Amino acid sequence: MTPAAYAVLDLDAARHNLSKVRSIAPNAKVMAVIKANGYGHGLLRMAAALQDVDAFAVARVDEGVQLRKAGFKNRIAVLEGFTDAEELDELLHYQLDAVVHCPAQLKIMEARTEPRACSVWLKLDTGMNRLGFKTAEFNAVYQRLSQCTLVKQPISLMTHFASADDVNDDQTLKQIDLFKRTVAGFSGERSLANSAGILGWESSLNDWVRPGVMLYGISPFPDATGNQLGLKPVMALRSRLIAVKPIDAGESVGYGGSWTCEKSTTLGVVAIGYGDGYPRHAKAGTPVLVNGKRVSLIGRVSMDMITVDLENQPDAKPGDPVVLWGESLPVEEIALRADTIPYTLVCGVTQRVQLVEKQHER
Ligand SMILES: *Cc1c(COP(=O)(O)O)cnc(C)c1O
Repeated sequence: MTPAAYAVLDLDAARHNLSKVRSIAPNAKVMAVIKANGYGHGLLRMAAALQDVDAFAVARVDEGVQLRKAGFKNRIAVLEGFTDAEELDELLHYQLDAVVHCPAQLKIMEARTEPRACSVWLKLDTGMNRLGFKTAEFNAVYQRLSQCTLVKQPISLMTHFASADDVNDDQTLKQIDLFKRTVAGFSGERSLANSAGILGWESSLNDWVRPGVMLYGISPFPDATGNQLGLKPVMALRSRLIAVKPIDAGESVGYGGSWTCEKSTTLGVVAIGYGDGYPRHAKAGTPVLVNGKRVSLIGRVSMDMITVDLENQPDAKPGDPVVLWGESLPVEEIALRADTIPYTLVCGVTQRVQLVEKQHER
């Protein structure tokens, strides 16, 4: 049975996007960021598609454990590190790299005696003010980690950008400069660049790059699409028409009657809604592809359905294919229409949507 709403995942596109990372940063090792269920594309699926990377990065310990249990042998960095001794146990047991970003973690590590059991990424806060030690604390923290029995030497060093998606904001250059000055003379591999760093800030390229969103073919910049940057979208969200009907001028459509027909037209009902992760805030006029042609969203997005104006294809019929985003309808464009970023759209695809790999497409 074909599900009404499904997402087709093109893993060759993901590998293409990885090769794009490598062409931009040929000397860097690649840490593929596959947190949050591979940005909604499937954690294990993305790990398998990208398995020749030097490392994976996930946000939480349990995501790393899932990768190990599935047999992945790559280095895996846990970007949020661990919060208590029990979580550290798990991290050690599964041989995950710890991001160390706060004093409480140092204390927990210093209480352990297993020699050189843990690979550490020391995280510096260079202006994001989320995770990381202040640069003034760096020397002291580095010394403590160097003396910690548990910690493999040398430790690795990282920071994260707050505004790299804005190529006119010089905060990124300040962060790069502060990081480089702080760690100068200390041994250990360095890592700064997320996708926006890789694509927009050459001086952020270093020993390791940490691409996330670009691996899925999505632009980190608000004014460009992945296609324009030479990337290929991995996910296409698809559904079908389930009703087609004439509607007269003056009639309103959907909850709240927020949209009224100015002239008589043909209305299509598509089996996709916010219950599938289609954004409820998508505005009237948001493009949808029906039979490969653009039509406009009208009325409010409901849980299971949206309505579209089929004025340019009155012969459309129930069962006809619909694309909500994907090739030829960039998810970046939908995000703009819904006042959000494409990250939230792909991460937000719900359980109800069946994920299908492209070669298995019906
Ligand atoms: C999520 C994340 C990344 C990847 O960011 P993108 O913008 O998706 O490329 C890199 N580094 C850290 C620390 C992250 O949390």
